[in-house]
Amino acid sequence: MSNVKIRDVRAILTEPEPGSRFTVVKIETTEPGLYGIGCASLRTRPQAVKVAIEQYLRPFLIGKDPADIEDIWQSAYVSSYWRSGPILNNALSGIDEALWDIKGKVAGMPVYDLLGGKAREAAAVYAHASAASPEEVEDQAHGFIEEGYHFVRIQVATPGFATYGASGGEGRDRDPQDGPKWITTKAEPADDKYAYAQRAGVYEPKPYMRSAISLMDRIRSSVGWKVELIHDVHERLPTILAVDFAKEVEQFKLFYLEDLLPPHEIGWYERVREQTSTPMAIGEIFNNPLEIVPLITGRLIDFVRTRLSPIGGITPAKKYAAMAELMGIRTAFQGPGNVSPVGQAAHLNVDLNISNFGVQEEAIYSEKIQEIFPGAPTIRDGFMWSNGEPGLGIDINEELAAKYPHNDEGGGHFDNVRRADGTVVRP
Ligand code: MG
Repeated sequence: MSNVKIRDVRAILTEPEPGSRFTVVKIETTEPGLYGIGCASLRTRPQAVKVAIEQYLRPFLIGKDPADIEDIWQSAYVSSYWRSGPILNNALSGIDEALWDIKGKVAGMPVYDLLGGKAREAAAVYAHASAASPEEVEDQAHGFIEEGYHFVRIQVATPGFATYGASGGEGRDRDPQDGPKWITTKAEPADDKYAYAQRAGVYEPKPYMRSAISLMDRIRSSVGWKVELIHDVHERLPTILAVDFAKEVEQFKLFYLEDLLPPHEIGWYERVREQTSTPMAIGEIFNNPLEIVPLITGRLIDFVRTRLSPIGGITPAKKYAAMAELMGIRTAFQGPGNVSPVGQAAHLNVDLNISNFGVQEEAIYSEKIQEIFPGAPTIRDGFMWSNGEPGLGIDINEELAAKYPHNDEGGGHFDNVRRADGTVVRP
């Protein structure tokens, strides 16, 4: 027990770039100047997270000792009786990361030191080579290799169809007036650069499979074996086609195939494992331990790909990572541009400590974002580096953040992709 107590808890919402929609929790203590920040960014439902933090967790936390992270996590987790889910876990993550930040500042140590120290100097990141044509993807991949990257994720538009992870090109679309009928539309590049061009349009699995396989063939032949390649299926393939796809891409020796199947189809990973040694990374939309734990204990995946905020922060992440380590499984935490720099700093601190780190998804933050978040992790030569400052090593300029309120117009939905008859394709 210390004399320091939690004095206030706030959610700070800021959207400095379209679609970024960051939510950051600030915990202030009774010790003047001692505070911590954490990431609670759920860009599709930020107002719900804010309510969970300020209306429900704030009164629960005020007066508690910020040093008791484990106790606070456990008691807050069950304080709603019904628990988990993206809203409650993101809220809890904001609290948890802020408490680790405070503990580090009190100790005068970076969080990775509190966790046991560095297992590596910097965290290798992967870059995104994503374009309308295979030629452009190839150019981008070579550009990244020249910049020093060792890991590149490759995505290309499927000619004539909606695709995850790449924009542009002519596409078949549904006619919103007439219903199921093939029409041809010109896909506009997405204005929301964080959305990875979820162009609403018709998705068909086989054309996607052929274009992705042909891209992997081209890029592997072009870059040789000096770089690791990653590809994201985005959980859209029908189950037996997913097994088939994983088998067919085995020849390209990917670092991993990402999100082959959605959380409601995890039972199929046994079928995949029986058929192929293509490495599997899964977990970015997982938020309940019941989803990821059987995949780890069954040694059915190769990389845990959760992001920290939907699972509840650093406290659960270190447990998942330890369990994965004992099963010979590595991590590949999700970190796209809609993870706040505070969340990315939390990823980095865990990445640096754990022995079974695989790779970290990179987020490139604009100068504007870096100005709002002084101390944001930097990327150099294909690695993300810590500044070694106490806590998470990052701060927020609240005055500047307030200049960019969330744009809640339209609600911020993740666009639906549909089959030709209008059926929603579940990611
Ligand atoms: Mg993914």
